[in-house]
Amino acid sequence: MTARRIVVATGNAHKLAEIERLLAEAIPAVADGALELVAMTDLDVPTPVEDGDTFEANALLKARACVAATGLPAIADDSGIEVDALGGAPGVRSARYAGGDATDADNNTKLVDALGATPPEQRTGRFVCAAALVTVEGEEITRRGTMEGRVVDGPRGTNGFGYDPYFVADATADGRTNGELSAEEKDAISHRGAAFSSLAEDVGRWLADG
Ligand code: IMP
Repeated sequence: MTARRIVVATGNAHKLAEIERLLAEAIPAVADGALELVAMTDLDVPTPVEDGDTFEANALLKARACVAATGLPAIADDSGIEVDALGGAPGVRSARYAGGDATDADNNTKLVDALGATPPEQRTGRFVCAAALVTVEGEEITRRGTMEGRVVDGPRGTNGFGYDPYFVADATADGRTNGELSAEEKDAISHRGAAFSSLAEDVGRWLADG
């Protein structure tokens, strides 16, 4: 049987592998190759401008761009960190908080500077991920996952990416930052894990509907 294909709106091999791992846990067709996940960059889909006001809007606009360019169904996500003491910033601007070409280090420096001497109990926030499925028939579904925690003022650990070395999740009982968690430990509590576990049910239903 020919594998069915679904486009993933990312050009990042690490993210594609992570999404594949999360969906494979719930969908046998992903694990056995009957549903093939293809990166948008392998199908030459131009990267859309992420100018939505919400994580859901950005995930949907990325997935829609993939469907429009390929005629295949698509999944996408958009994620970031919201810090309560900063009114929810960096939010949807997390990747470019310190500017268009910002590195993770630039963004982290800006975040820690913005929080300044804010005491630990007021450094609360959360990672948010919106995951979207858009079908060729025009069905659009979004699912949201969050990971509550707080921002610490010095980095710890080298695992993960982005803001991970500065974030301690409430679910991590021993106070390690996300940068000190293994990939498996982070998947089990992460915003992206939660969003894609939920979206996996929708992808499974779409597959079964044929
Ligand atoms: P995007 O979802 O690819 O647009 O990226 C959003 C940005 O949010 C990333 O560049 C990171 O800065 C941040 N971010 C999202 N998820 C995580 C995470 O799991 N750990 C650390 N940073 C994250």
